[in-house]
Amino acid sequence: MFDLIVKGGTLPDGSTADIGITRDRITAMGRLEGAETGQVIDATGDLVSPPFVDPHFHLDATLSYGLPRINASGTLLEGIGLWGELKKIVTQEDMVTRALEYCDWAASMGLLAIRSHVDTCDDSLKGVAAMLEVRDKVKGYIDLQLVAFPQDGFYRDPTARANTLRALDMGVDVVGGIPHFERTMADGAASVRELCEIAAARGLRVDMHCDESDDPLSRHIEMLAYETQRLGLQGRVAGSHLTSMHSMDNYYVSKLLPLMAEAGVAAIPNPLINIMLQGRHDTFPKRRGLTRVKEMQAQGITVGWGQDCVRDPWYSLGTADMLDVAFMGLHVAQMSSPEEMRRCFDMVTVENARILGLEDYGLHVGAVASLVVLDADDPIEAVRLRAARLAVLSKGRLIARTPRGDATLELPGRPGSVRRRHPVA
Ligand SMILES: [Zn+2]
Repeated sequence: MFDLIVKGGTLPDGSTADIGITRDRITAMGRLEGAETGQVIDATGDLVSPPFVDPHFHLDATLSYGLPRINASGTLLEGIGLWGELKKIVTQEDMVTRALEYCDWAASMGLLAIRSHVDTCDDSLKGVAAMLEVRDKVKGYIDLQLVAFPQDGFYRDPTARANTLRALDMGVDVVGGIPHFERTMADGAASVRELCEIAAARGLRVDMHCDESDDPLSRHIEMLAYETQRLGLQGRVAGSHLTSMHSMDNYYVSKLLPLMAEAGVAAIPNPLINIMLQGRHDTFPKRRGLTRVKEMQAQGITVGWGQDCVRDPWYSLGTADMLDVAFMGLHVAQMSSPEEMRRCFDMVTVENARILGLEDYGLHVGAVASLVVLDADDPIEAVRLRAARLAVLSKGRLIARTPRGDATLELPGRPGSVRRRHPVA
């Protein structure tokens, strides 16, 4: 007896299976013909995937686009300045309201686990309090992991160090940092060392905004990998952005990547934001501002696509759709072979789940019963179409439905409805 069966779906590996769900767990997979069940979701011919995971977001700033004004230069630095103006005037209640609205978008898109940085450079820590409240409010359907993020610099901002420690004491999950924003390279390196030591002492994960710059000499990822190894943090550390690696000397990178692989440091590029913000000081040729994704993967480094921003001081667009993120990443990193396109889907699902350390994630007996039914035949088609989320299940419950996106054609002599699914035979 199951509470719910998802019938006939195609899994990302191409096999088909019914998925039997009891309470919040997957309790059977395979042919479940004639089994007793409460509810049936017919997924025949549709892709059934584990939920999307976003490893890099800013939930305290989201949906604030235009407040108090628009980012005129489109640069990272003006965005940071603008956020500095906004965070003085925004209330805790505003932040909670906007974050919850975003979480509704995310849930409807099958995005059910989010790692969000929360700014700790504010003596009131109202953003931290707001995000802890949101984490609690959404926990029934979204796993929200919070990173203590000293936006204005762990050392550069006079009270950031104390406030970051307070945020961790309040229950923030992960240690963040921003070494390239410190005043000197030496301060940046020192911040990486101290923040990793704090994580090691508290048994926490680390995720730093690292080398989000076009400066080829911004090399804090080297220190992050070194400290990871020294402190035994392998598999628990991620470097977000790493855009400077795009511009680094090739010989240096040939030494850096094996160090990252040895240290088990993951990388989180954010293609929508990186392509938008980086290269702004260039004339032509203009750099793409994305880190070396395929080169890292070739070394065995885990790389996950992150979203970073939706409608905030840094980015005016966005819909909480991780397939948009994968689509952009695929283009900017030129991941065009079938294997690479397929990998882009994994980079917003299973690989991101690994970075967050999610337990019991996936489609197998014993896993948490969270999944998405997509209007697509396979993962590549899901990326191509940014396919509709026909059904979203979280922890055993159906939480969202979207109708298929077929258009009606009004052309004489042509069939009446347009189907954009077009799988390889
Ligand atoms: Zn960020």
